[in-house]
Amino acid sequence: MLFAYTKEKDMVDAADAGDRQSYFCPDCGERLIRKAGKIKIPHFAHNQNTECQGLSEGETPEHLQLKRLFYEWGNRFENNWQLEQPLVDLPQRPDLLHEHFAVEIQCSSLKSARLQERINGYAEKGYQDWWLLGKPLWPKEKFTHLQRQFCSFDKEKGVHLWLVEKQGIRLLYHIHEVDGLIYCEERWPDFSKPLREIFSSAVTKCPPRLFPTTESVKARKRELSIKLVQSNPRIRVLQQYFYQERRHVLYLPDWMYFPSRYFFFYQEDLLVFRYLFQKEAKNATLIFQKFLAYREENQKEWEFYQINQQEILERLYLEAIFCQRKAKVSLA
Ligand SMILES: [Zn+2]
Repeated sequence: MLFAYTKEKDMVDAADAGDRQSYFCPDCGERLIRKAGKIKIPHFAHNQNTECQGLSEGETPEHLQLKRLFYEWGNRFENNWQLEQPLVDLPQRPDLLHEHFAVEIQCSSLKSARLQERINGYAEKGYQDWWLLGKPLWPKEKFTHLQRQFCSFDKEKGVHLWLVEKQGIRLLYHIHEVDGLIYCEERWPDFSKPLREIFSSAVTKCPPRLFPTTESVKARKRELSIKLVQSNPRIRVLQQYFYQERRHVLYLPDWMYFPSRYFFFYQEDLLVFRYLFQKEAKNATLIFQKFLAYREENQKEWEFYQINQQEILERLYLEAIFCQRKAKVSLA
């Protein structure tokens, strides 16, 4: 960590601290060691056998540097950006804090339960939290469970994920899983704009348009039939469900195979949602209930701690209305 308490409980910056004094952890009160090496910038560290649950996730040199960068970046434009400040109303310390705006820079993995606890804590006490992933956690061809946990959603940016490196901030938005991963991107070089302005920036690109065509419906079915032949476990479960309904996963009405903006959240299970939409005559409450029951039976948990599932279900519902209507007009 970059700040610690003195004996008098003053917060001191590791960069300004001398080696003679004693320093203490603001979370657990344990004595800390000041370190200033060649790879890591000056910082404080616990004894290796610590049980401290505070900030003490293995602090990488990158994490220390990025916190330092944000501290300078924040304060260049606005007063009172604070680093590792203990909160009065929560047993957690954000990496950075500005009024009720908490920034968390994540460079190493974090237990799901711990992450959920922190996100809920911020929400309960009315903090706006902003999570950014350092390079070791950037997504490659696919999003892992961890990256999904850090995704947010709003109407303007769609599914989005914030990334950070020394050179600045990247925003991946309108993230879609179609054939592989697609997204739009914005970048802000370091010190180009106030941090909070970046967080609430408008984006410049529109979401990709998803046109259903006769060809796209065929392609979708082909994909499913290949997975069925390969005994893909996800599709097998799906097929079992439809079998019980006296249906077949490859012979549903065409509109159910139309591309979805929300494929990222549910993948092929969207077929179950759309099937229920038709079966339950648009009774939203019943559709949501049955769909969630299906997900639960198959141990599919909601992985997106920062996204309200109810909102996504409502959007799926509206999309289903749109798809059904579109199916009545002939496809290209
Ligand atoms: Zn501690």
